[in-house]
Amino acid sequence: MAIVVQKYGGTSLNSTKRIKEVTKRILEEKRKGSQVVVVVSAMGSSTDSLVEMSKEVSSHHPHHREMDMLLSTGEQVTSSLVALALQSKGAGALSLTGWQAGIYTEETFGDAAILSIDPRKIRAHLDQGKIIVVAGFQGVSENGEICTLGRGGSDTTAAALAAELQADRCEIFTDVDGVFTADPRIVKEAKMIPKLTYKQMQDLAEMGAGVVHPRAVVHAHRNNVPLFVRSSFDQQEGTRIDHFHEQTHVTGITVEKDLTHLTITVKEKTNIPEETSAALKVIEDAGIVIRRALFKEDLYSFSFIIQSKDVKQTCSLLQRRPWISKVSCENRSAVSVIFSHESLAFNFNNRLSKVLKTKRNGADIIFHRPRVWRVFVPDNELSRTAQLLHDVFIAKPNLSVSI
Ligand code: ADP
Ligand code: ASP
Ligand code: MG
Repeated sequence: MAIVVQKYGGTSLNSTKRIKEVTKRILEEKRKGSQVVVVVSAMGSSTDSLVEMSKEVSSHHPHHREMDMLLSTGEQVTSSLVALALQSKGAGALSLTGWQAGIYTEETFGDAAILSIDPRKIRAHLDQGKIIVVAGFQGVSENGEICTLGRGGSDTTAAALAAELQADRCEIFTDVDGVFTADPRIVKEAKMIPKLTYKQMQDLAEMGAGVVHPRAVVHAHRNNVPLFVRSSFDQQEGTRIDHFHEQTHVTGITVEKDLTHLTITVKEKTNIPEETSAALKVIEDAGIVIRRALFKEDLYSFSFIIQSKDVKQTCSLLQRRPWISKVSCENRSAVSVIFSHESLAFNFNNRLSKVLKTKRNGADIIFHRPRVWRVFVPDNELSRTAQLLHDVFIAKPNLSVSI
C-alpha cells in the first residue's frame, strides 16, 4: 500500500478553523487508499511566542536543554489537536511526540540532526488503518533528552520519516504555491518553479530559501523520495523535487537576513595576522559559523560576518583578548545568485560585478561555493538588491546593465 507523508506548516495550522480545513485534505488522501503519516508544525507563530516568553523569565543565557523542552511543546499541541479533529470525523488517528515516533537525534540542543528512526510503532498503527500525526521538529537523544531540529525543522521530520518508511512521496504544505525563483514576499515578479532537482533545492535551501529546511532535502535525496512543496490553501500541484535532467540556467535568488559585520580595532603593535587567526579559531571552536572572513581592513582593524544571534557570545569570547581596543557592529544581509552549473556561475561573473558596480557601489561579492555567488549588503539594501539581481538574471536576462 502506498505511504504518503504530508507536512503542514505553522500558517496552515494557525487556528482551530485551519486545523479542521487541513483534516479534509488528510482524509482525501486516506480515501484514495494510501497509508498516511502527517507531520505538524506548531500553530502560527507560537514557537516565536514561546521564545519571547522564555526571554521574559530568563534574560541572560537561556539553558539550551530547557529551551528544547519548551519549544517542543508547540508541535505537541498541534499533533493532538489534528488527531482529535480527525477522530471527530470518524477516522482512526493517533498523535505521537518525536520520541514516541522513534526519532533519535544527536544531543545538540536547538539544532540536532536525526541519526536514526525506529519505525515499528508507526508501522504497526498504520497497518491497523490509523492516520499517524507526528509532532515535527523534535526527537530524543540516546540519554533520553528532547532535542529540537533547528527552526523550520518539521520539514526534516517529514522527509526523514518519508525516507525511513520508503514513502511514495513527501508533501510539504505551506502558505505559498511552491518554490519560487525568489522569496515572493520580497520579489513580486518571482515565478513558481514546477520542477527542481534535489541539488538545486539544496542550494536554494542552504542559501536561505526558508520554504524547505536544507536537511529535509538531504533525507529525501538519500532515499530518492519525491518531495513536493505545495499550498495548503488550494489544490495546485506545486513544485516537484526529484531526479530530473538539469537545464542550464539560473536557479534562483535567495536572501539571508540577520547577519552582523563585526569590525575589531586593535591596539598598536598587534600582530594582526597571528591574533586574527587565533581569535577566529576560538570563535569557530565555540560552534559559531563565520559567514565571511574579511580579515585585514587596514593597519589596525580586521572584520568578519556572523549571524546576529551569535554576536553576544562572540563579543564575550573576544573580551578576553587584551589587544582589542574596540568592537563595532553593522547589520548585514546576504543575497545569493544560484546557478544550475558551476561553469555558468563563472560565465556570469563579469555580469554580476558590472551590475553591482553600476547600481550598488560598495557591495561585497564573493564566490561562496560552486554554483553560488553571494553579495553582502547593508540590511536596508536587501530588497532592492534581491529585486535587481532577479531582474538581471531571471526576469529580464537580456536587460542591458548600463540602463
Ligand atoms: P511553514 O510555516 O509552512 O513552514 P515557512 O514560513 O517556513 O512556512 O516557509 C514558507 C515561506 O518561505 C513563504 O511564505 C516565503 O515567504 C518563504 N520563502 C523564501 N524563499 C522562498 C522561495 N524561493 N520560494 C517560496 N517561498 C520562499
Ligand atoms: N515550529 C518550529 C519553528 O517555528 C518548527 C517548524 O515550524 O518547522 O521553527
Ligand atoms: Mg517552514
